[in-house]
Amino acid sequence: MVESSIQQTLVLVKPDGIYRGLIGNVITRFENAGLKIVGMRMRWIDKDFSKRHYSEHLEKTFYYTLEEYITAGPVLAMVLEGVEAVEVVRKIVGSTEPKSAMPGTIRGDFAHINLAHADKTKKAVCNIIHASANSKDAANEIMLWFDPMDLHTYKRAGEEWIR
Ligand code: AMP
Repeated sequence: MVESSIQQTLVLVKPDGIYRGLIGNVITRFENAGLKIVGMRMRWIDKDFSKRHYSEHLEKTFYYTLEEYITAGPVLAMVLEGVEAVEVVRKIVGSTEPKSAMPGTIRGDFAHINLAHADKTKKAVCNIIHASANSKDAANEIMLWFDPMDLHTYKRAGEEWIR
């Protein structure tokens, strides 16, 4: 059997992206690339939920600044679908550190902070967006954030020209 290259991945517009009014900009980039939004919700998460979402960072020195950041306001969660969507979405998002993120990426175009400054000032690396790191994380994160009945199957107009 041929393995499907169609993947789903989780994207979060973090509180800085919401407060700065960047939702439209972020969504437009994914839609322009032909990625399909199959689920969307806004949620203001608490510390317990942050610990579940960022479980791999719990022991890191920056965890508490990260927790403060991600619980500081509402978050827009989206499930995006497309051909090798996990990697494609991360390419559009850019590197974790905004200073290193290339122009043309979301983080490169809308932020510039570096890790050293964040560490020195004990501030979070506000980088607008989260995208699942790999397909295993994507499956776990989608399960954490979404009820399966809130994920939808539909055909985008012109989809035959996209995938
Ligand atoms: P990641 O799971 O790699 O997306 O990391 C989660 C978030 O933690 C990043 O998006 C940053 O906001 C933050 N972060 C990652 N690395 C660092 C670091 N070295 N210092 C401070 N914050 C960090």
